[in-house]
Amino acid sequence: MRKCVKCGLPENYADIRFDKEGICNYCNFYDQHRAVIQDEDFLKEKFREKIAYAKKKARENQSKYDCLVGFSGGKDSTYIIYQLKHKYHMRVLAFTFDNGFMTDYGKANIKNALEKINVDHIMFSVNEKRLRQQYSACFKMMKNFCAVCFHNMHYYSYLLAHQNGIPMIVNGRTMGQILQTADETYRLEPFETSDNLLDFEHQMFLGLEQKARKIPEMDYLEEIRGIEAVSYFAYHKISEEETRKFLEEKIGWQRPKGISGHADCFAHAMAEYMCMQKHGYPVRTGELAVLVRRGEITKEEAEAELLRDSENFQELPQEVKDRFYHRIQLKK
Ligand SMILES: [Zn+2]
Repeated sequence: MRKCVKCGLPENYADIRFDKEGICNYCNFYDQHRAVIQDEDFLKEKFREKIAYAKKKARENQSKYDCLVGFSGGKDSTYIIYQLKHKYHMRVLAFTFDNGFMTDYGKANIKNALEKINVDHIMFSVNEKRLRQQYSACFKMMKNFCAVCFHNMHYYSYLLAHQNGIPMIVNGRTMGQILQTADETYRLEPFETSDNLLDFEHQMFLGLEQKARKIPEMDYLEEIRGIEAVSYFAYHKISEEETRKFLEEKIGWQRPKGISGHADCFAHAMAEYMCMQKHGYPVRTGELAVLVRRGEITKEEAEAELLRDSENFQELPQEVKDRFYHRIQLKK
């Protein structure tokens, strides 16, 4: 199989194209914009401006909160809430979408973090029947189901922010997740943010959201605008290990045990398995290619990690699959 000579992305990766030298469009895009994406001082300043604007707008709205943060119980969202509160002195409302895939580990982390950081928190769940319908339909159509959580999480974030006059939603997507399919600056941080749900989903769904909005049951809250979606890690460079150490020291955060990189979601292994079945490569393929472009890891290190993921998720124990199917099964 053909692979990008620089980052190692395979030829069946989403919308990939190679130039004469065998370099992919994602590497070329990154190199073109490297000076901005990696200018840490510029990014920090840009983030501070956003924070100042959000505080001002929250005052005008007479809101109790300056920002809303999606809180999964994983390290990234925990870290962001801590920093927004203590470093940026923001009034944070934390928001957890209970999708029925939460692990005991994730729940314990949420409880501990809320006790230590002291922010208000809303735990929210959706009508169970509708949620199962969404998971089942998405699973059948796309051999994927993470899109359902992503959409619901952000749908209710926008709704909640709107209802409470909160001008900013901060998310914990990593630089790898933000840039993994980026080859235009439209609605791409740090170049542009989005101020509504449809635009926010653009980089995640690559235009699919425009098709989805035509489905009668799908709602994109198109009347709600003016709430800025900001990815914390587009403006702050920190390694995963630094994040873990920081949280251990500050709030007694517990590391997950086992191999999964997403210990806050019990369906993560299933998502990996489905990705292997559908594409033949692991979920983190695009994210690790971004780290190669950034010079944080080598192409060989990325390949070794992806090989480990491939081996781990080539097949799953039947009970792991059964637990997932049971979760999304439609009930009579
Ligand atoms: Zn490449």
